[in-house]
Amino acid sequence: MKVLLGSGNPAKLAEMREILGDIPGIVWVSALDLGLPEPPEPGETLEENAVTKALAYAKRAGLPAISEDTGLEVEALAGAPGVLSSRFSGKEKDYAANNQKLLALLRGTENRRARFRTVAVLALPDGRFWTSQGILAGEIAYEPRGTGGFGYDPIFIPAGEKRTLAQLSPAEKNALSHRRQALEGLRPLLLVLGQNPDLLT
Ligand code: IMP
Repeated sequence: MKVLLGSGNPAKLAEMREILGDIPGIVWVSALDLGLPEPPEPGETLEENAVTKALAYAKRAGLPAISEDTGLEVEALAGAPGVLSSRFSGKEKDYAANNQKLLALLRGTENRRARFRTVAVLALPDGRFWTSQGILAGEIAYEPRGTGGFGYDPIFIPAGEKRTLAQLSPAEKNALSHRRQALEGLRPLLLVLGQNPDLLT
């Protein structure tokens, strides 16, 4: 059965495919493959946004859909940018501007503690859905380093590492990431779905 990876972000889609890998009975299709536009993210929480996106994709495609919403939560900024991570600098998805704004806000701040939080959702066209959360703790670097990944990766150092996420290989990032932990929570459901597509009816 086909399951839709509901994101319009190619970097995110590549990570989702890599993390989920092959699941018996499931064929991945992406929102980009189907030319589906990205639904709006009107919510005030990652949970609301992830559920809204997954349901919109599932209904539009008539397929089970997985979407996720991710935020970077910085302790010294009371959890900001959080749900506003993609438009932190004012411009949607301007990664360099977002990173520069965050570094400027933290200039002179010793508490660099931060975490990525991802909420992943598997939704069905009939409106049922399941959620799963993943958290990666770490700290904000003093300047951007590395060219891998996307978003805030060049300024985020995972706990226990000296390198930023952008200095890790894709396999290293995917082994420990917030996205991995969230998607792993959906794997048992996907294994059941792949073997019993009639559960959907
Ligand atoms: P989204 O709304 O879930 O697409 O993500 C919000 C923003 O968080 C993105 O625009 C990126 O800047 C950032 N982001 C999401 N996932 C990651 C990640 O794995 N690494 C670094 N930044 C990320």
